[in-house]
Amino acid sequence: MDHIKKVGVIGSGTMGAGITQLMVQNGCATVLFDIDKETVDKAKESIGSRLERLVEKKKISTEEMILAKELLQTTTDMNMFKDCQLVIEAAPEKIEIKRSIFQQLEKICAKDTVLTTNTSSLSITEISGQIENPRRVAGYHFFNPAPIMPLVEVVQGLQTAPETIEVLVQFAEGLNKKPVVCKDTPGFIVNRVARPFYNEALRIMNDQVASVEQVDRIMKSAGNFKMGPFELQDLIGIDVNFATTQSVHASFYGESRFRPHYYQERMVQSGSLGRKTKGGFYNYD
Ligand code: NAD
Repeated sequence: MDHIKKVGVIGSGTMGAGITQLMVQNGCATVLFDIDKETVDKAKESIGSRLERLVEKKKISTEEMILAKELLQTTTDMNMFKDCQLVIEAAPEKIEIKRSIFQQLEKICAKDTVLTTNTSSLSITEISGQIENPRRVAGYHFFNPAPIMPLVEVVQGLQTAPETIEVLVQFAEGLNKKPVVCKDTPGFIVNRVARPFYNEALRIMNDQVASVEQVDRIMKSAGNFKMGPFELQDLIGIDVNFATTQSVHASFYGESRFRPHYYQERMVQSGSLGRKTKGGFYNYD
């Protein structure tokens, strides 16, 4: 754990930005990469304003905020990861993208850099399948919002070394997270449990048994959930959630209990992706 001083994060969307904020708040120099300069600049800005809000709320001191900002570097050049001891990939949930990123990382990073993916549902074994040393690759599945949610799934691919898992567990504990080691099975633990939560809510809405608002209200007031299934889809991103459902369904060889709902696909096609587009199941304008 102590040897991880510099972290590289790939993808500056919802998760990449959240994970970066978590790292710099915990004193880790962090390089945030995106293929798109405008996106990575925006992520830097939003991390900055989130840190400022934490000062206003007296959760961190002004000095801590200044230090965290200083620890953040952004880039569109992956070569900046050369001296990172840990890389966390949070690019889109597409196997071709992730495989290509890991092949590039293997060439850029030092031999002992631990390479991880924040994938929600893709196989770690498949992502690392074409690289020379898959022993140093693992899943590091943070939850949204990453600076707040305590759980981190540490996923062991078929070829992941136990030492890699150990380093990641210790590092997560140093961030005050609760790491849970799990096997490389479809959806790991949380996303497997969560699929019926979203799918059944979509069916209930579509069958006009209850409205979006009613389902969310019932789950919160009667079920004691912090957020209902529709609010959560808007937070996660309906496209991201749909991709996860498709992937879990395919990985279980089309088992009907994991079958995605067409309405979720319609939402994605319409461009209503949740909070990030200011509209999804709810309006955020
Ligand atoms: P997002 O769409 O918000 O962000 C993805 C980012 O990746 C974008 O900034 C995009 O510009 C960038 N990108 C696109 N192609 C790239 C490439 N080739 N190389 C590097 N960057 C690239 O997605 P997200 O919600 O942050 O999800 C990222 C990953 O985290 C996915 O694997 C997802 O399954 C997982 N995840 C998401 C959540 C969630 O709640 N959104 C939770 C846990 C895990």
